[in-house]
Amino acid sequence: MKVVIAGGGVIGCAIAYYLARAGADVTVLERGEIAQEATSASAGMLIAPFDRTGSRSMVRLQRASFKLYPRLIKQLESETGIDVEYRPRGLIRPASSEKRAKHLKTLAKRVTHRKAGVEWVEGSDLRHLEPALSDELLGATFSPGDADLNPALLARAFAGAAEKRGADIRRGVAFTGFVSSGHKLTGVKAGSADLNGFDAIVLAAGPWTKALAERLSVKVPTAPMRGQMLAYRSTVLHHAVWGEEGYLVPKLSGFLFAGATVEDVGFRARTTSDGVAGLRAMAGRLVPALRRSKVASEWAGLRPGSPDGMPIMGRLPKRDNVYVATGHFRNGILLAPVTGQLMSELILSGKTSIPLDPFSPARFAS
Ligand SMILES: Cc1cc2nc3c(=O)[nH]c(=O)nc-3n(C[C@H](O)[C@H](O)[C@H](O)COP(=O)(O)OP(=O)(O)OC[C@H]3O[C@@H](n4cnc5c(N)ncnc54)[C@H](O)[C@@H]3O)c2cc1C
Repeated sequence: MKVVIAGGGVIGCAIAYYLARAGADVTVLERGEIAQEATSASAGMLIAPFDRTGSRSMVRLQRASFKLYPRLIKQLESETGIDVEYRPRGLIRPASSEKRAKHLKTLAKRVTHRKAGVEWVEGSDLRHLEPALSDELLGATFSPGDADLNPALLARAFAGAAEKRGADIRRGVAFTGFVSSGHKLTGVKAGSADLNGFDAIVLAAGPWTKALAERLSVKVPTAPMRGQMLAYRSTVLHHAVWGEEGYLVPKLSGFLFAGATVEDVGFRARTTSDGVAGLRAMAGRLVPALRRSKVASEWAGLRPGSPDGMPIMGRLPKRDNVYVATGHFRNGILLAPVTGQLMSELILSGKTSIPLDPFSPARFAS
């Protein structure tokens, strides 16, 4: 089976890896560098779903992907030598109001899905866990199993491991159109060249996927959702902290990320003074010591959104051999392994071990 994938973000690279592992002949077209867009901008948090705000199918997908990680990381590292900086350091969700404290306590009691569990901590226990947090916080939940990693390294490890299994990863080559033979699409335009002889074509170009699918008159309504982030050079925190206004994530590199805005402003991947000021204020409220810290860098990325907040994955309606995988919004790093696995199953066998129907692009067809 010969498959070509448009897009070398974490999603395109994960699909390439799982397909190559299953013996497919894979080509990836990435118009720039691997992971150059949302994937690199990401905080790289891997958080198992905690409450039931998401749909049942989304929660199932998140849990399945979360579980795939520990073994996958070992495999990728042994195949490529790349340490993707995966660390299950745990996540603290603090409460600054009685209402939120009550909500989090109730949730913590209810959560039974992970062996490690989720516990409520307050007072000296919370100070001991994370001494730099504001004294004004009423308490927090702590989920020790939640993890983070370096998302750009993850995408490069997927790509590298796929290459080791024979995949052709073309950097600096844009997908510019489809090539057809009769009614069937058999190839793609890559820059000025035609590449032919493919059995399947996968569109995984983040928020640019919408324009690619429009060439086939198919709706894949993923919109760019900007996220601004900044980094302090600080080792003041030992765990990720997700408050009501944003999050702080300590990285192995010695930086502390603060994120993120969620803005619907088109394809404008830049920071704004308001966005950065908001993140600084949020960071200072959670960790007062950060009020005196200088911002070391700031950046923005465009998450692939979707109208219902769920990924868009599956075969395109009325197209036998064209597939799409996008719309992962705030969960693309978490969901990359399960996306790679399920898309590979779908393309190679037409069946998937977890149903993909709820995520099908057909839901936007009418
Ligand atoms: C600030 C921020 C924080 C985030 N934090 C987290 C987090 O903590 N945890 C989490 O799970 N998720 C997080 N996300 C979301 C996650 O980063 C995205 O869901 C994920 O990176 C999407 O991956 P992708 O491969 O679909 O898209 P992208 O990373 O955007 O990749 C698409 C690729 O396609 C390429 N491309 C586009 N058009 C073409 C073309 N015509 N031909 C060839 N190539 C093309 C682009 O160059 C790009 O490299 C965050 C996102 C942001 C912005």
